[in-house]
Amino acid sequence: MFRALLDMAFPTYCLTCHQSLDSQQQQLCLACEYALPINEYYKTPNQNPLIQRFTGRFEVKYAFSYLNFVNKGKTQKLLHELKYEGNQEIGEYLGQQFGKLLYENGFATAFDLIVPIPLHSSKLKQRGYNQVDNIAKGMAESLHIAWQADALIRTRANQQQAKQDKEGRLKNAEALFVVNEKTEIKGKNILLLDDMITSGATIEAAALPIIEAGCQTISIASLASAL
Ligand SMILES: [Zn+2]
Repeated sequence: MFRALLDMAFPTYCLTCHQSLDSQQQQLCLACEYALPINEYYKTPNQNPLIQRFTGRFEVKYAFSYLNFVNKGKTQKLLHELKYEGNQEIGEYLGQQFGKLLYENGFATAFDLIVPIPLHSSKLKQRGYNQVDNIAKGMAESLHIAWQADALIRTRANQQQAKQDKEGRLKNAEALFVVNEKTEIKGKNILLLDDMITSGATIEAAALPIIEAGCQTISIASLASAL
């Protein structure tokens, strides 16, 4: 009753088609939820175009992506909401759905810890939240495993910012991420998570210190990928 009154006072709209939502739906209408461009890499997690990107770079056990990204498509709209409109709930919701998909397809015990790619502290201050944390929280809930926002520390704001002089090159060669000393990595099956994977350079930079810290296996998950 209260919720029904609330709906009348503050109607909510589907993020992608803008129809008004009933009280059961939080972010997307049912039609849009069913029409999400779900990626099927989870069916071939150790042999797909995403994992192939890392061949010869470092050893990836499984690679997953939840949504296919196309310009001006639903996924782009949802990522925009999450990153630039302050809609943290959509990240958590999509994370839950992503985690559920993995849980129901044989990966319930494949991982011990979800490690989200962190923002640099200056960027975190600016945005107020790390959108990858929202996804990690939702996934961890569905997979019944832990996640740790500060498992990694980002040492610089941007990988490409170093100038091409000698000093810049040296700076760029330093590690972009380090493992937080309070993170337990040794012997763990790590699921490294980002919101979007393009070249894979950020994921690689984040994976290297985790491997160095003695993880058992490392797998990769991206909320979205353009392929
Ligand atoms: Zn809709």
